[in-house]
Amino acid sequence: MAEYIDKQEIFDAIDLLATKFPYKVPGRPDTYHPYNEAWCDACSHALDLIRHHTSADVRPVVRGQWEPKMHTMISGELTHVKDEWYGEVYVCDQCGFEMIGTENFCPNCGADMKEEGE
Ligand SMILES: [Zn+2]
Repeated sequence: MAEYIDKQEIFDAIDLLATKFPYKVPGRPDTYHPYNEAWCDACSHALDLIRHHTSADVRPVVRGQWEPKMHTMISGELTHVKDEWYGEVYVCDQCGFEMIGTENFCPNCGADMKEEGE
């Protein structure tokens, strides 16, 4: 499965590396080294590659959970609401959508209800 990352996070990480390991520390002529200059050039090339790479149209995954719909009895006891014919009622914790049983995705808001890593 393809994985997607935020371009800005990569820009920031590469900028941080290039700043942390400059090929020359300003004001200190003895810090120049061809290897470090090549390193900074590589950082610039990497930034250009990412900057000009076509972006995929993706959305962040919204994770949710099915919560059992509870009902308070006259006695004060909490019970899981059940449909007489079809089973227990669950509520999406992201949008409040109610359904009988559970699915891997909320049919109303699309939240991913699977455990992370499933
Ligand atoms: Zn939902």
